[in-house]
Amino acid sequence: MRKGIVFVISGPSGAGKGTVAKGLVDTLDNISFSISATNRAPRVGEVEGKSYYFVSDERFGEMIANGEFLEYVDKYKNKYGTPKSSVCDLIDRGVDVILDVETIGAANIKKVMPDAVSIFILPPSLAILKQRLINRGTESSDLVEIRFSQACDEIGCARDYDYIVVNDDRDKCLKSVASIIEAERQKGFRNEELPDLVLKGKVISD
Ligand code: ADP
Ligand code: 5GP
Repeated sequence: MRKGIVFVISGPSGAGKGTVAKGLVDTLDNISFSISATNRAPRVGEVEGKSYYFVSDERFGEMIANGEFLEYVDKYKNKYGTPKSSVCDLIDRGVDVILDVETIGAANIKKVMPDAVSIFILPPSLAILKQRLINRGTESSDLVEIRFSQACDEIGCARDYDYIVVNDDRDKCLKSVASIIEAERQKGFRNEELPDLVLKGKVISD
């Protein structure tokens, strides 16, 4: 059984990362979303243990001290971290994992997991990005401004990613990211044992 692949999805706030991640988990087999911990307050509709693990400042500090994070960051006046144990358990069981993390976290994941695949979700324009953030209606206008003001820095990191996908049409974007995942799953170095199995007379399935 091959190890699961870590897919890191980044992009400025409002680009559509959460939308794409949900679409992937809903439509692809054998892939799971890594649930981060955060000290920010839940938004309307967000569910504990599904959207995030919502923890206090104090608990977040404990998690850092206990080495529970693969990476963590302080951004948009909040803290976010990727729990190590759940990601490692999933990939050890051969399940692919999607991480929705900002650019600093993505670079840190690549350092500890060089085989991770990074995908940058790019909005069609800054104006559309701002409109999506406003339309989402989850942040006050000053928090929208804080997030939007960091968009250019985030977009400036896009060239460091393995893939850049524009999220103009939702379905097209989802299809493109799904095809990247399918292609990465077939890469030779992830499937080195398969030819020998066939040569040994085993029957393997896709
Ligand atoms: P992120 O997770 O990157 O912050 P979201 O997935 O929350 O972004 O998307 C931001 C808003 O834009 C949401 O209201 C979402 O429904 C909307 N959205 C996402 N993709 C598209 C798209 N291709 N076209 C129009 N609206 C979109
Ligand atoms: P939001 O508050 O909109 O849910 O997330 C804000 C930003 O934090 C997004 O860019 C998202 O990718 C990022 N983020 C969410 N979880 C993590 C995490 O565990 N680590 C890092 N580095 N970023 C995260």
